[in-house]
Amino acid sequence: MKRTGLSRLICLIITTCLLTACGYSNNAPKANVIDDDYRNYYEIFVGSYCDSDGDGTGDLRGIESKLDYISDLGCNGIWLTPIMASPSYHKYDTTDYYMTDPAFGTNDDFKSLADACHKRGIRLIIDLVINHSSNEHPWFKEACEYLRTLPDGAEPDLNECPEVDYYHFSREQINGSYCEAPGSDWYYEAVFYYTQPDLNLYNPALKEELRKVAAFWTDLGCDGFRMDAVMHYDDEVSSYNIEFLHDYYEYCKSLNPDFYMVSEVWASEKTIADYYASGTPSFFNFDAADAEGKLVRAGRGKLTAQKFAEACVDYQETYGAANPDYIDAPFITNHDMGRVANALKSDPEDMKMTAGLLLSMNGSPFIYYGEEIGMKSKGKADENKRLHMNWDGTVYTDGDGTPAGSGVCRDPENADKDIEQSFAPVSEQEKDPASILSYYKEALAIRNAYPEIARGHIDIVDELTDGHVAVITKTWGDEVMAIVYNTGDEPATVDISASDSAVNGMQPVAVLCALSEAGTADAGTAGSAAASGRVLEIPPKSIVYLKIS
Ligand code: CA
Repeated sequence: MKRTGLSRLICLIITTCLLTACGYSNNAPKANVIDDDYRNYYEIFVGSYCDSDGDGTGDLRGIESKLDYISDLGCNGIWLTPIMASPSYHKYDTTDYYMTDPAFGTNDDFKSLADACHKRGIRLIIDLVINHSSNEHPWFKEACEYLRTLPDGAEPDLNECPEVDYYHFSREQINGSYCEAPGSDWYYEAVFYYTQPDLNLYNPALKEELRKVAAFWTDLGCDGFRMDAVMHYDDEVSSYNIEFLHDYYEYCKSLNPDFYMVSEVWASEKTIADYYASGTPSFFNFDAADAEGKLVRAGRGKLTAQKFAEACVDYQETYGAANPDYIDAPFITNHDMGRVANALKSDPEDMKMTAGLLLSMNGSPFIYYGEEIGMKSKGKADENKRLHMNWDGTVYTDGDGTPAGSGVCRDPENADKDIEQSFAPVSEQEKDPASILSYYKEALAIRNAYPEIARGHIDIVDELTDGHVAVITKTWGDEVMAIVYNTGDEPATVDISASDSAVNGMQPVAVLCALSEAGTADAGTAGSAAASGRVLEIPPKSIVYLKIS
């Protein structure tokens, strides 16, 4: 990316000034973390994160050993992809809803991890996959066996085999999502894959069973669920899915008043808004996510800051109308998407800008493990989106004596073998103040210092907003903060004295600059610029936070 000499110079001057005059490391904003449902979440694909016993598979004890890292990053919530017993590497097909998969550890390990999280003020939520089970779940095997031995023409007797009604069986192949039940002339619904038979969430006994599952994990210290594939519970009747979520969440809240729930509705903003009527707190913001979502497009300058700010207001209005207590769950990518490094061609400035935008948004942002060090994926294969966390550059090789406790995991079995990372591992980025990791830490530190960033009501300061420069305020109780975005490649000036809004009278408290030369920094030069002339000099690809001083 080409940039003018002037913008490089400005960033360099600001950096120099901050590092010398202000003292970068001693100038971190003071944390003001509130213990509520607004969190900074970190998504962990469990098998690829950290291996505690040298077998190459990430596990719960491995994650426990990395809690300081996650906490230092600035996260106070963790979402684990499914941990319940399952024959697949991704574990989105459960064979036992009451057991941690042995590859990941034991239920005692989970309890230990939950306790260790709670000691650090981290909430631990787990994936709950109840749209379908595994075709190896005893319920499904029982049902198939019963149907297989049913005399020709006889109808199933649910008193003899209640599990038949836990799934959607039919003598007809109703549509392409129905698969042949082995050894019988019956078919079953499996929307995703034949190994994932859809559960019948209308069945009262199954619903009761799933309440027991919620109680079981809550007892072990689980703080909430990430609900998988909720729009597929009933593919035809979304009102039922919404009702189910409402009832299940209410039950979970009766177990623990602080129980949190975030659900996957991979759909448009409008459809997500419909689901907010369930009264459950959060849905992932798919409109903002992925390679063509608003975050990445704004981060690379294809969507203006003005449009990005307007989108944030739009979420606030659309989601807020459906549930006034909604908590948006924005994210850049997850385990089902190509990594952001690929979408942004490993341009560190665009990647930092995208992260800065995410971490300035309302709600509970979700960071996919490895995103904070710019890890990349390859192609469309899911396994390549779930590669081993790059702790120190070491690659796990079976039988090479990779020491237990080093943490390094092997990649999923079908992942490509030739994916070289563009950015340094954690061990090196931790020492580099200009690294992507350092940028994430700074952005999260700012977010943790000012609770209104997550919680405030957004207003756009129209008279200061144009194209790649946007100014918004966030109001939360008595706290008001302004955020100035410059997503462009050129420096910008913003005369805050020209505004009638609260921003007139504020001073910069923090600056996040994505330019490589600048690294990240707290308020400094921008502050003195404001003090002298009320005109902010905003470097390219930067976010400035302002408060009444
Ligand atoms: Ca292991």
